[in-house]
Amino acid sequence: MKRIPEPFRIKMVESIRMTNEEDRREALIEAGYNPFMLRSEDVYIDLLTDSGTGAMSDVQWAGLMMGDESYAGSRNYFNLCDAVKHFFDYKLTVPAHQGRGAEQILFPCLIERMKTVRGGDQPVFISNYHFDTTAGHIELNGGKAINVLTEKAFDTETYDDWKGNFDLDKLQSTIEMYGSHNIAAIITTITCNSSGGQPVSMANMRAVYEIAKENDIPVVIDSARYCENAYFIKQREPEYADTSILEIIREMYRYGDMLTMSAKKDPMVNIGGLCCIRDHEDLFQAVRTRCVPMEGFVTYGGMAGRDMEALARGLYEGADEDFLHYRIGQVEYLGERLREAGIPIQYPTGGHAVFVDATKILPHIPSEQFPAHALCNELYLESGVRAVEIGSLLLGRDPETGKQKESQLELMRLTIPRRVYTNDHMDYVADALIAVTKRASEIRGLTFEYEPPVLRHFTAKLKPVE
Ligand SMILES: *Cc1c(COP(=O)(O)O)cnc(C)c1O
Repeated sequence: MKRIPEPFRIKMVESIRMTNEEDRREALIEAGYNPFMLRSEDVYIDLLTDSGTGAMSDVQWAGLMMGDESYAGSRNYFNLCDAVKHFFDYKLTVPAHQGRGAEQILFPCLIERMKTVRGGDQPVFISNYHFDTTAGHIELNGGKAINVLTEKAFDTETYDDWKGNFDLDKLQSTIEMYGSHNIAAIITTITCNSSGGQPVSMANMRAVYEIAKENDIPVVIDSARYCENAYFIKQREPEYADTSILEIIREMYRYGDMLTMSAKKDPMVNIGGLCCIRDHEDLFQAVRTRCVPMEGFVTYGGMAGRDMEALARGLYEGADEDFLHYRIGQVEYLGERLREAGIPIQYPTGGHAVFVDATKILPHIPSEQFPAHALCNELYLESGVRAVEIGSLLLGRDPETGKQKESQLELMRLTIPRRVYTNDHMDYVADALIAVTKRASEIRGLTFEYEPPVLRHFTAKLKPVE
């Protein structure tokens, strides 16, 4: 497997503290066997998330100095609006402090519209797969979040180009089951984070949009990793092989009516988000009205002027094809190193992370003892690498019955921050995980010592099962 050299050089470095196994064992116990609760100083390579962990460029840092910190009408807001128009061709932009900020100002407005304009009373959202905070905001507002992801995504070993796609039959039948007037929105998540950063094809996005329009349902594009999705379309969908990333992005956004974005992913800022609407003025007004008390005044929405400038510039850098070639290549390289060693991963690798199939490595640990979480803990003890569980612990309980929801997969996610770690770091991670899998049969499952009522994975305290 070829290593693709970094298309940047390093102008500033940040030292990381090296730890030994004893330090790490102590730190993990202190953290209640939950890597989310570790101090980052006790972590060597932090693959918890690619969210807000990217390295900004010299151009973005220079943009910080151009911040216009006027309370209202900052020039950086207008630069941001221009960048949004350039890439997505959406006219209306509301900044937000991050992705969930955009969700909290948009979703209640969509539910309200469903009730007043379309005569529904049981708000349902349908997505290829709802991100955890996305489902959280829907449930907090009394809605139901239903995932209709292609079955192919659950077969981790068999290659498929589009493991982020909607199952179109399931989409149709779900709309029929609840009635189109009750569907507050369809959410197209690109790439599909929860299935492994897997892409959605242009053909699938187009088909979803056609179904939505036939049923008069608005489509929200959940846009954390839209550049990575565009790159996969260029690589894998033959008719787009000669289309520029910009043109691909523009077409993708024709198959949506609005977007929410965590700008902490592809646009490589440390904080920021967006809610943009193609041209629906009424909805825009409603979102702006919610923005003021929730996020801040409508031209900053929780962001400093300088941060909006860094984001406006980041939208361009994230869509750079040479960068994307390296970025996707680095993730694929780590995945291939693991596959060569016989470690089961979601295959092919997605855009931002390698998802390791913990069920296959730890078949003796049942899902209610969180095998993927146990694997994360062992990897940390072995190497100081922090990964994250995407499985039963993350999925949580059904809010109605209080029962553990059944997760189809128990995955450990190795999430690669953008422009932060080198290919040598990837080799270190691969070697560490290979060492852990050699003593898989000794690894024990976990049980709760403290379980928070919502979004429990962030602050839960656990202990090993006897
Ligand atoms: C990260 C993410 C969000 C939430 O964004 P935050 O910036 O973390 O609030 C929503 N959807 C997807 C697909 C994400 O990856």
